[in-house]
Amino acid sequence: MRSRYSAFVRGNIAYLIATLHPDKRQADDETILRQTIEDTQWLGLKIIRHKSAGNNATVEFVAFYQDEPIGQLHERSHFIKEEKQWFYVDGEMLAPIKLSRNEACFCGSGKKIKKCHSSQ
Ligand SMILES: [Zn+2]
Repeated sequence: MRSRYSAFVRGNIAYLIATLHPDKRQADDETILRQTIEDTQWLGLKIIRHKSAGNNATVEFVAFYQDEPIGQLHERSHFIKEEKQWFYVDGEMLAPIKLSRNEACFCGSGKKIKKCHSSQ
């Protein structure tokens, strides 16, 4: 999950497609990924929970992006391991999470949200 997030930040489309489960690949993946990467300025990633059992894993995360107010992609993603490689299968969109203004900012600045990326 973290490596896919980094690939989104860096615009590494080849990696994003390589780690997408082959059954889920579509002809327009590259176009859609390129559009998403161009349109989105990611600010940080918060992993909420991570569960794995055998060759299946679920990762619930929030990826924050620049917007007014700050945007959240809150998703529960499903991964499957085949021949020693983990693939992203799909994900369910969840409602934005509530943030405390006193918690450490998701952008990794080390400052509290209220002194950093507060959108209130
Ligand atoms: Zn911040």
